[in-house]
Amino acid sequence: MKVGIYPGSFDPITLGHLDIITRSSKVVDKLIIGVLYNSAKNALFSTEERVGMIKQVTSHIPNVEVDSFSGLLVDYAKMKNANIIVRGLRAITDFEYELQIAQANHKANPEVDTIFFTTNVEYSYVSSSIAKEFARYGSDVSQIVSPIVIEKLNEKFNHSEK
Ligand code: ADP
Repeated sequence: MKVGIYPGSFDPITLGHLDIITRSSKVVDKLIIGVLYNSAKNALFSTEERVGMIKQVTSHIPNVEVDSFSGLLVDYAKMKNANIIVRGLRAITDFEYELQIAQANHKANPEVDTIFFTTNVEYSYVSSSIAKEFARYGSDVSQIVSPIVIEKLNEKFNHSEK
């Protein structure tokens, strides 16, 4: 059985992430979305909130499981019997960092390989940071996040709607 892990902060999940999830779930038997618990970044949403939103927006994809983890990704992959790591590439700027991480992970556990999905052009500018920045000032984010995420962003920023 091919088990893949798509790790990330997902603070919050965007349509760009969802596109990668939809496409990568077709090439593995099971896709585990691993929400990084102890992110160095200051997260807007708690791990539980991030996991909850991902579960809701991926509920229609049967082979997707949502989980959280802390520590080293390769250790987590081993624990989950996963040998594929899925990452998304938006631009060449993502590549340098991702290449280094993929090589380090492969070195740490040669059983684990990283596969990259290139972004759908319509989501190439989409990021969790942009979604948060736009939502903070009440700007329309319906092109970049799912309705359930819009609701949660509005709750965080105390906007009644949009
Ligand atoms: P991290 O903090 O690990 O980069 P993110 O939640 O920002 O976590 O992203 C998780 C993964 O999704 C990364 O591989 C990132 O490159 C990818 N990704 C993020 N946004 C997009 C997008 N719009 N299109 C394709 N891939 C994306």
